[in-house]
Amino acid sequence: MQTIGWIGTGQMGELMAMNLLQAGNRLHVYNRTIEKTNSLVEAGAIRASSAKEIVELCDVSFIMLADTNAVKDVLTQEDGILAGTAPGKIIVDMSTISPEDSRAFAQLVSETGGIYLDAPVSGSVGPAKAGQLVILVGGEASAKEVCQPYFDVLGKETIHFGENGKGSAAKLSINLLLAIVGQGVGETVLLAEKAGLERGKVLEMISQSAMNTPLFVGKREMYETEEFPAAFMLKLMAKDLGLIKEQADRLEVDLPLAEAAKNTYMAARECGEGDSDMAAVYLELKRKNTK
Ligand code: NAP
Repeated sequence: MQTIGWIGTGQMGELMAMNLLQAGNRLHVYNRTIEKTNSLVEAGAIRASSAKEIVELCDVSFIMLADTNAVKDVLTQEDGILAGTAPGKIIVDMSTISPEDSRAFAQLVSETGGIYLDAPVSGSVGPAKAGQLVILVGGEASAKEVCQPYFDVLGKETIHFGENGKGSAAKLSINLLLAIVGQGVGETVLLAEKAGLERGKVLEMISQSAMNTPLFVGKREMYETEEFPAAFMLKLMAKDLGLIKEQADRLEVDLPLAEAAKNTYMAARECGEGDSDMAAVYLELKRKNTK
């Protein structure tokens, strides 16, 4: 049996690590804010004092951190991942970062003899808890095969897109669609309201239409109550739209809806909605249209 480790027990990481633990794996855990590993330790995980310790102890180490800066810190700090990697160790980075950064991190890990997979996920806290994520992989096929039993616990589908960076590229593409749909629902609800339509009936109309989606089902109550407790924090979507913009510029592709979504989500973040759910982009649209 392989020894596995988990670094980063935020909203997503805690739920994903818990699934691996409950599937019978021996799991070592580390998080910068140590208390956020308490629930996992109570459930049988073994707490490590650094990312280096995790990687030294484990054959496969998963990372689920906020952004590129967080991954870079945890890789390169004195007691970080690179200080503990060795030939054959597999590092699976499930954070959403840019394809370029994924490739750069893969290179750093390979210089120690280790293997890096970018394996970001599509799906928020509901699918994470239910083990129903979609896992988007870039990197060596043989390492992906080693990780497949773990991916099968975390998700309902694993798609291997090719070499390092391609998992991250896939994640940016799907999150662009997510951002556009999120803003689209917000604009739809706002337009209907401005026309004097009752919000409950508008939401029912969407749910009975071809545009009903698991996303809308999950967020419908937020529009009903105008309360947006975060499943996927708006600031993380704003971060992803920045990465999407960089990727589009690099590839010299003009994406008008991506540009519009970036501006709206970033404005919402500036207006204090960063810690709310991404669906709170509706509040920004409403604010902009208040006379
Ligand atoms: P989160 O709850 O904010 O957790 C972020 C994690 O990153 C925490 O463990 C945090 O540690 C750690 N971190 C941040 N900066 C760090 C640093 N400089 N050094 C060390 N650790 C650092 O975020 P999340 O919702 O779990 O998201 C994690 C990743 O998954 C993000 O890349 C996000 O875009 C992506 N994602 C999220 C969702 C979602 O619905 N939430 C869905 C798909 C993908 P502390 O606890 O010490 O702050």
